[in-house]
Amino acid sequence: MDEPVTPIHKEKKCIVFMTCLTRLLSWCHCPDCGSVGICHNVIGSLLVITLSCASCFKKVTWNSQPYIGSTPAGNILLPASILLALATISSRTYFRHQRSVLLPVV
Ligand SMILES: [Zn+2]
Repeated sequence: MDEPVTPIHKEKKCIVFMTCLTRLLSWCHCPDCGSVGICHNVIGSLLVITLSCASCFKKVTWNSQPYIGSTPAGNILLPASILLALATISSRTYFRHQRSVLLPVV
């Protein structure tokens, strides 16, 4: 994978809905025969898309984010952003809200 020009923590990030991404990927076809199959795998905040051709067996894999070492960058940056955003409340308040509001929804 190419090294990013912009440092990872300064690069713009987006939330992408799967239906919207699938709509975009429907435009992708095998450059040799025009066929393509799409499968995806989710690893935390990382989305891995694999496009594979059932006719000529060519395959390409795309990751939705770069890695920091062996960890998807989002899987480090997301909890870091939560931790930093919650620096203004106490951990007791955080866990109280998590227990009383968030967990019942989950
Ligand atoms: Zn093909």
